[in-house]
Amino acid sequence: MITRFAPSPTGPLHLGHAYSAMLAHDMAQAAGGTFLLRIEDIDQTRARPEWEAQITDDLTWLGLSWPRPVLRQSDRLVVYRDALAHLWDRGLLYPCTCNRRDILAAASAPQEGAAMGPDGVIYPGTCRHKPRSGPLPADTALRLDMKIATQGIDLKYYLDNGATRSIAPHSLITDIGDVVLARRDMGTSYHLSVVIDDAAQGITDVVRGADLAEATPIHVLLQHLLDLPTPAYHHHRLIRDDAGKRLAKRDDARAIATYRAEGATPADIRRMVGLPVHSDK
Ligand code: GLU
Ligand code: ZN
Repeated sequence: MITRFAPSPTGPLHLGHAYSAMLAHDMAQAAGGTFLLRIEDIDQTRARPEWEAQITDDLTWLGLSWPRPVLRQSDRLVVYRDALAHLWDRGLLYPCTCNRRDILAAASAPQEGAAMGPDGVIYPGTCRHKPRSGPLPADTALRLDMKIATQGIDLKYYLDNGATRSIAPHSLITDIGDVVLARRDMGTSYHLSVVIDDAAQGITDVVRGADLAEATPIHVLLQHLLDLPTPAYHHHRLIRDDAGKRLAKRDDARAIATYRAEGATPADIRRMVGLPVHSDK
């Protein structure tokens, strides 16, 4: 078993992240497997080396360890580009020049407003007619043509408890739509990078929050399109604050660093999120 924790270094590690990391670590350890850390820093406008250092320090303090060097997504833009070129050559991508406002205006039904998918408003397809020939375009967003990409697919994936989830092509088209696989400013996207790197690192079990469960069908489709294996998925409960609100990165009050400064021990953190505490801690 190979699990991973894949933070974006855009803020402090909070209780919810710590839970995710410890769970992935515990699962790998219980199975005699390996836990990996991956730095998801494709958003170079928000990623900071200081946050990466803090995350590494907090995870170490929590008692986690992993092989080095860690994989850093900003080092792998060429690999993502190759995958995009492969999809582009098969006519599965098209360039999109819409901004948020264009999309909202085109997608909004008079009464109901716009339908929402995992990445926000479901794209209305304004740019779908754009030419798909020639070399892979640079400096533009690229969207996956979901209708073509899902033609004839029969996909399923396993949850870590052995249950199976089937993916209905029509739900990918209507509930998710033409997702962005390359953002103009990044040349890649979360969905594309995560799928390529989970495969590159041989991840067998993806452990992550239930907030990302909606993205999993997109990832399984991409694995199919790129000929990559599909890991098992474990979507864990989200750690909420006392008011029942989901913890956000900016809630510094829940930062592990804050608890550390207040004198909490790693065992205290494990107890707070409901994980077993080992007798030697
Ligand atoms: N980098 C993502 C995040 O911090 C997590 C990616 C994943 O676990 O699939 O939200
Ligand atoms: Zn567009």
